[in-house]
Amino acid sequence: MKYITLISILIVLSCIFYSYLPFMNFKGKDSIADGKNTKLTEEDYARERKKMVEQQIMARGVKDKKILDAMEKVPRHMFVPEGYRRYSYYDQPLPIGLGQTISQPYIVALMTEMLDVDNEDTVLEIGTGSGYQAAVLSTIAKEVYTIEIIEALGLRAEESLRNLGYENVNVKISDGSLGWPDKGPFDAIIVTAAAEKIPDPLISQLKPGGRMVIPVNNTFYSQDLLIVEKDDAGNIDAKKTIPVRFVPLVEGEKVTK
Ligand code: SAH
Repeated sequence: MKYITLISILIVLSCIFYSYLPFMNFKGKDSIADGKNTKLTEEDYARERKKMVEQQIMARGVKDKKILDAMEKVPRHMFVPEGYRRYSYYDQPLPIGLGQTISQPYIVALMTEMLDVDNEDTVLEIGTGSGYQAAVLSTIAKEVYTIEIIEALGLRAEESLRNLGYENVNVKISDGSLGWPDKGPFDAIIVTAAAEKIPDPLISQLKPGGRMVIPVNNTFYSQDLLIVEKDDAGNIDAKKTIPVRFVPLVEGEKVTK
């Protein structure tokens, strides 16, 4: 009985800790961004980005050259709000306003690798957020369609993407759990918010032979990152990969203005 109480307390404490994690300003080891008063230049950011790829992404086993190149090329700091910009290349998610977060760089790279897309593929993303994941995908895929439910975030992401010249990304403000029927079916679908279950419209908008990467809630207050494959006959096979933590996918909701 005592053990059960102790374990329950530990679980509650770790849940509290993990929910605050994205909002903590961690100090990355030997990061130039540590010196609070120095203004970082584009060269500093490029150096931080290179280090991020080596120490956080390659070191954890992501090997695909086109993904490593994309992570080294896309200026993550341009998708992060001013106040957090210097922490852009730290090994953690960061707040982007309105209670939402930009995912940890490694998770962006890993999910992109799992999607397994090339320059002939059309990809649908649910949960535009900052637009960073869409920018990474746009350097690899032919066309990216991305849907955001919070209007202010969607508009800001669209502007960042346009200013940086990511022309093959299309942003829509809507409930992404319904997909984007008139642009589908898609070669690949990536969901960057936590779903209760895989939304049916997304399954029907996936091409036969296509794949979806989606975090789905488990019983441990986190999610299982699933790789969902649709075979040529339209059958679905879902495989669990690692546990992750995403903000929730709000389904059947109106756009937040
Ligand atoms: N991919 C983003 C991070 C995603 S955070 C990036 O690279 O920055 C998850 C986002 O999903 C949030 O912005 C949230 O508003 C959005 N979201 C939640 N439910 C949604 C829904 N039903 N449709 C579209 N977007 C949704």
